[in-house]
Amino acid sequence: MSGLNFAQQEAVNYLHGPALVLAGAGSGKTRVITHKIGRLIQAGMPAKRIAAITFTNKAASEMRERAKQLVGRGANDVVICTFHALGVRLMRQFGDVLGLKPQFSILDADDVLSILKDAGGSTDNAAARQWQWTISLWKNEGRNAEQALAQARDDNERVIATIMGRYEERLTAYQSVDFDDLIGLPLRLLRDHPEVREQVQQNMGHVLVDEYQDTNATQYELLKYMVGERGRFTAVGDDDQSIYGWRGATLDNLKKLPIDYPELKVIKLEQNYRSTSAILRAANNVIGPNPKLFPKTLWSDLGEGEPVRVVDGDNEEHEAERAVNRVLSLRAGDTLGASGSPQFKEWKDFAILYRANHQARVLEKALRRAQIPYKVSGGQSFFDKAEIRDLCAWFRLIVNNNDDPAFLRAVGTPKRGIGHTTLGQLGAFATQYKVSLFEALFSNSLQTVVSARAVGSLHEFGRYINDLEYRARQTLGAEDAKTFLMEWLKEIGYEQHLLDSEENDKVAAARWGNVLDFCDWMSARCGGTLDDAAGATTGPEIKTLLEVVQTVSLLSTISEREKDQNVLTLSTLHASKGLEWPHVMLIGVNEGLLPFKLDDDNGKKQVVSDDIAQRLQEERRLMYVGITRAQRSLAVSWVKQRKQGRETVRGVPSRFIAEMALDQATIKEDPREKLKALRAEFAKKAQTDLASAKG
Ligand code: ATP
Ligand code: MG
Repeated sequence: MSGLNFAQQEAVNYLHGPALVLAGAGSGKTRVITHKIGRLIQAGMPAKRIAAITFTNKAASEMRERAKQLVGRGANDVVICTFHALGVRLMRQFGDVLGLKPQFSILDADDVLSILKDAGGSTDNAAARQWQWTISLWKNEGRNAEQALAQARDDNERVIATIMGRYEERLTAYQSVDFDDLIGLPLRLLRDHPEVREQVQQNMGHVLVDEYQDTNATQYELLKYMVGERGRFTAVGDDDQSIYGWRGATLDNLKKLPIDYPELKVIKLEQNYRSTSAILRAANNVIGPNPKLFPKTLWSDLGEGEPVRVVDGDNEEHEAERAVNRVLSLRAGDTLGASGSPQFKEWKDFAILYRANHQARVLEKALRRAQIPYKVSGGQSFFDKAEIRDLCAWFRLIVNNNDDPAFLRAVGTPKRGIGHTTLGQLGAFATQYKVSLFEALFSNSLQTVVSARAVGSLHEFGRYINDLEYRARQTLGAEDAKTFLMEWLKEIGYEQHLLDSEENDKVAAARWGNVLDFCDWMSARCGGTLDDAAGATTGPEIKTLLEVVQTVSLLSTISEREKDQNVLTLSTLHASKGLEWPHVMLIGVNEGLLPFKLDDDNGKKQVVSDDIAQRLQEERRLMYVGITRAQRSLAVSWVKQRKQGRETVRGVPSRFIAEMALDQATIKEDPREKLKALRAEFAKKAQTDLASAKG
C-alpha cells in the first residue's frame, strides 16, 4: 500500500463489488489498476483469473512491467491487454461456436477497404472509406446489416447497409474478421450462448478497465457479460479526457454504470502527482467551459513551477525551429553539475505533441537537422504503408500458405483476373472442407463449384507461390536477394500496378521508392554486405531470403518495444493519452487545427450546430489531455501563417490559448533562449573535444 494515498488505497482494497474511480488527469488512476492487480493476487486470487484492459498494446506492456515489479513473476499470468486482444483470445477459444476456425484471420484496414470496394462495386477510395467509417460506427453500436437497413435514415444509409450485408457475407466466406468484430463477435458469443457465458464468468475473477471513458457501447456490453451479476470489476476514467467520440466511444457508459450497478462504489481522486500548479491551472482553466458530468477539483503540491509559455512562429518551419531551440536550451538547463560542466537532460524527457499526423513532417526535418534522436508515435509507420503491406502479404503467404487474408491480398495485388466471385466460391469451399484457401485451390473437387477457367487461373497462382517459396529458399546473401526481389517485382508487374492505381504519378513514384527501400532493407538483412544506412543489424552471417522473410511478418510489432529508447517523442494528442513527460510542447495551437476545423471542407456549414458544439467540447478535452501530459514545463505554440492545402492563410491563435488564462506578464518566451542553447552546445562540444584530446 506504499505509494498510494488514502482514496487510492480505498479503491485498491475494495475487492468484492463494482468500483468506479473517477478522477482528473495525473491523479494516479492507472497506478490504482496496477496496485490492485497486486492486491488481488495477495488476497489469493489466481493471476490468470485477473484481467486488466488497457487502451493500447503499449500501455499493456508497460502495465505488465509495473505489475511485475510489484508482485514478481506471478504477474505473467495476469491477462493484460486491449479489448481487441481480449476479443481475439475469446474467439480463438470459443470461435467454433460461431463457426469460425481457430486460425481465423484478422483483416487490417486496407484489406477491409478492398473488400468494401468490391462489395460496393466501386473503385472510389473516398467512398469506400466513408462506408468503412459508417459500418464501423454501426458495428460499434451493435447493429448488424439487417438492423442497419431497417434503421437507415436516408438513401445513402440504405445503400451502405446493403453493402454492409455483402461485406459480411464475404468475411464469413473468407473466415476473416475485422477489428470491430473482435468486440462484436465475442459479445454475440456471450450473449447468445449461456454455456460459454457461464464458463467465461467463472474464469473472470476481477476485471480492471483503464481509460474507461473511451470505451464504446459494445465494449461496455461485453464487459457486462464478462463480469456477470456479481460485477467484480474496477473501471477508472476521466470524463474530461474522453477523446474518441468520433470513433464511437460514448460517455453514456459512465452515466450507465451507477444505474446498471446500484451498489457501485464511486471513488474520486483529487491530488495530481504529475504536474506543477502552473500547468494544472492552465489545464483546469481550459476544461472549465465544458459542461460537467461529474464535478471535480484537482490540486498539486509540486509547487508553482515554471510559467506556461506561449510561442509564436512566423510559419510551420519557423515554429519547428523554435521548438527545437527550446528543446536544446531546456536540455542544457541552467544548473551546472558538480564538475562545473552543464548537466544535460535526457532526450526521452521531451515530447512535442500536435493535432494531426501531417504536422510531424516539418518537425522531423528540423529535428534531423539538429541531430536530435526522435520517434514518431501515433503516426503511420513504414510497415503500415499500403505498398509495404502488399509486399508483406506476399511474404506472409509464402511463409504460411494458410494465411487467408494474405492470400486474398496477394492474389489481388496486382490484379490477375481472379474475381471476387471465384474467391467467394473458393472461400465457401474452403470453409466447407475446413481448409485454407491455398489448400482448397489444389483440391480436385474444386472444379465442381468453380469454373474450369477460374480453376486454371487459381492453379497458376498457386504454382507461382510454390515456385517463389522454392526460389526464396535458394536465395542466399544480399546480392542474390536483391536480384530475386527485383525479378519478382517485375514478374508481378508491381511498378505498373502502382502507376495504374494512383492518379498522381508523383505519388506512385514515391510509393515505388518505398518499395525499393524496403527491398534494400530486406536484402541487407540477408547478410554478406553490411548496409548501415538501411539499418541492417546483420553480421557476417549469411541467411536465405526465406529465413529473413519469416521474421518480417513480426515487424509490425517492433515499434511497441521501443519504449526504453532515449529519444524525443513526437506524437499526436490522441496517441499521448495516459503518458507523461517532464517537458512538453504543443504545436500548431491554431484555430482550424486545435480546435480542428469545425465546419466542413468547403466552408459550407452543413453540420448542425449541436454537432459543432459537441465537437468543440471534444477538441477542448483533447487540449486538456495535451496540457496534462506535462510534468515540469509546458509551451504552446501557434503560427502566424499556415499552409492549408496549396494556399497560405493567416493563422489565428486557438481560443484555447486565451482560455488557459495565463499571466500576461510571464507568457512570452525568453528571447535569450536561443543564445542559451548555443552556449550549451558549445560547452558540450568543448567538453567532448577535451575528452578526445585527453583520451
Ligand atoms: P491519466 O489521466 O493521464 O491517465 P492517471 O490518473 O492514470 O493519469 P497515473 O499515470 O496513474 O495517473 O499517475 C500519474 C503520475 O503520478 C505517475 O507518475 C504516477 O507514478 C504518480 N503517482 C500516482 N499516484 C501517486 C502517489 N500516491 N504518490 C506518488 N506518486 C503517484
Ligand atoms: Mg492513466
